Amino acid sequence: MVILMSSLRRNRPLPRESKTRMLAPAKSTDSRLSDWSGVAKGKLVISIDLEAAWGVWDVLTPEQLRLAEEAERPICAALVDLFDRYQVPATWAMVAALLHEPSAASRPGSTTCWYAPDIIARIVNAKAGHEIGSHSGRHIYFGQSTAAQAREDLEFARSIHRAHELPFTSFIFPRNAVAHLDVLAEVGLKVFRGNDVDWTAAARRMERHLGQAANLLDKMLPIPPSPVSTRTCGTLTDVPASMLLMGRNGLRRFVLPGVTRRKLRMGLDRIRRRGEIFHLWFHPSNFYYRRDEQLATLAWFLELAADEASRGEIEICTMGSLANASPERNPSARSAS
Ligand SMILES: [Zn+2]
Repeated sequence: MVILMSSLRRNRPLPRESKTRMLAPAKSTDSRLSDWSGVAKGKLVISIDLEAAWGVWDVLTPEQLRLAEEAERPICAALVDLFDRYQVPATWAMVAALLHEPSAASRPGSTTCWYAPDIIARIVNAKAGHEIGSHSGRHIYFGQSTAAQAREDLEFARSIHRAHELPFTSFIFPRNAVAHLDVLAEVGLKVFRGNDVDWTAAARRMERHLGQAANLLDKMLPIPPSPVSTRTCGTLTDVPASMLLMGRNGLRRFVLPGVTRRKLRMGLDRIRRRGEIFHLWFHPSNFYYRRDEQLATLAWFLELAADEASRGEIEICTMGSLANASPERNPSARSAS
């Protein structure tokens, strides 16, 4: 643990080039025009739910346990390499128990499915300058929890983040069950990922299976993902999701990479024209099946996004940097844009 902590601390400041990309992208003729015209530049945010077996602790199968043990680490390593190659920072929201070995003791299977300081050290030490966020303490479901249970879980998470000198600013709800926002604010969190705002949200509200079918249909068709804007909820900022990079198991294997690429490109095209946010999200487990195809899709997208950012056409932000820069939170940002 001492080795991990020194490793985590060693590279605490973000690399200079990553800060530059996030906060002050290179100027080009296009960006000067958009600044001059008063239209905010489009922003790309990528958030990743880092959970290993904690993500399925309540519905665990032997196959999921096997994949968490065998696939999670190589996939996280490949993802970190990809983000480094294109110098794109992301928000990695971690289940805090991944840094708390006693929490793994009562869980089935290998400890490595539940305890992963090596993965988190790799992310913290990456050149891209990622943000570490929170995906709760032990992946409890806030929609089914009392305020006291939510507070206990978040206080545990905060203690782990503090012990390792990790930020505790951005939050992603387990299973996207948004609830107890007042408790999030109490423990000092500043920003959370709200739910997708596309047409499938209405189906999800009506019936869970209808929502799942609509979600799959949406991913199979070249329907553009919805751009989003930040929303202020008291002291918190909501950065809603635009698009999930879906896994490729079961029926999802019929989601063609070409369609996914077209949707990703449309997501960037839309924010470039409208100055909004494209918020892509996924779990490492979304790469468990058809891994090479999935990684190739992400690499293609990161190259595209990095190229557009280098030309000043978009900005690449983490959830935390976006919340700090939001006009609602920072009036000077409003007058400057
Ligand atoms: Zn999760």
